[in-house]
Amino acid sequence: MRAAQYTQPDAPLRLVDLPVPTPGPGQVLVRMHASGVCGTDIHVWHGHFPVTAPLVLGHEPVGVVEVLGAGVQGLKVGDRVGVSWVQRGCGACGQCQRHKELYCDAATTWMTLVGGHCEDMLAEARGCTLIPAGVDWAVAAPMFCAGYTVMSGYRNARAKAGERVAVVGIGGLGHLAVQVAKAMGHEVVAITGSADKRAESLSFGADEVLVVKEHAGLELAAMGGADIVLSTSNSMRHNSQVLAGLRHEGRLVTMAVGGEPIAVDPMLMLLKQLSVVGSMQDERQDMVEVLALVAAGKVKPKLELYGLDEINTLMERQRDGKVRYRGVIELAR
Ligand SMILES: [Zn+2]
Ligand SMILES: [Zn+2]
Repeated sequence: MRAAQYTQPDAPLRLVDLPVPTPGPGQVLVRMHASGVCGTDIHVWHGHFPVTAPLVLGHEPVGVVEVLGAGVQGLKVGDRVGVSWVQRGCGACGQCQRHKELYCDAATTWMTLVGGHCEDMLAEARGCTLIPAGVDWAVAAPMFCAGYTVMSGYRNARAKAGERVAVVGIGGLGHLAVQVAKAMGHEVVAITGSADKRAESLSFGADEVLVVKEHAGLELAAMGGADIVLSTSNSMRHNSQVLAGLRHEGRLVTMAVGGEPIAVDPMLMLLKQLSVVGSMQDERQDMVEVLALVAAGKVKPKLELYGLDEINTLMERQRDGKVRYRGVIELAR
């Protein structure tokens, strides 16, 4: 089977022919149909993640279950599934005991097993989630990282009816966050540094768009502020500024990685009783819910589609911030 392997930092991914793996106990083999490319793939590509090369990248994989390993329950051959980043915990540690496998230090992930940029992917059965009927493969793929992440971020914001939601960073995650917040009934402000994203932000459902000139927070406050800011932006300058745009008891939910700290004014935090909430892919329920929003036509990723042999073109576009808004490798044979 064909696959795209990471071999060393910043080198082009290598297209190789690998033996089709045999699933062990509790595992399945997934005949891949699509695999999304995420900003995190670029961090891995730059060597910022503890992976052992060579490794097949890709953590937004979707396809059809084609072989069941011993003892697999709840899945059958022919099921349409996607595979999440954390597939299975060790089962024995304190985090696993309280069903928080995402915190398990010995979890099985795509980094320890194999990623999705291949034709036949080995996966833990526990890492698979069924895809609702009628959802296209390429549309489903980005839900397994980008959609999952923003749905968890939204839930971790503990949103209340009528609250105004701002989204910072209109990219792979942010364009979905706008749609999720809108689907959940909120007035939504899209915040971006790129004037050319104004029209598309409105098309994603934003009620208003703030193209930041000098200070994201003061400019948001001038527009009435927000109760919740969902940030997917790598700009810690914007993430620091935007606190000034939160209303009383407002929450900044930060979902992006960055090398710099977020600066917090303690007096502002105190007087408005603000919270800064870190959020990553959390409960599996969040992904099931975002898939349901997709199936209902309320969330729709905007995609660029590529073949496996074009993976390096897509990686370069992702690195350069050119992808509008999610790049997906199609693998149907
Ligand atoms: Zn990702
Ligand atoms: Zn564990």
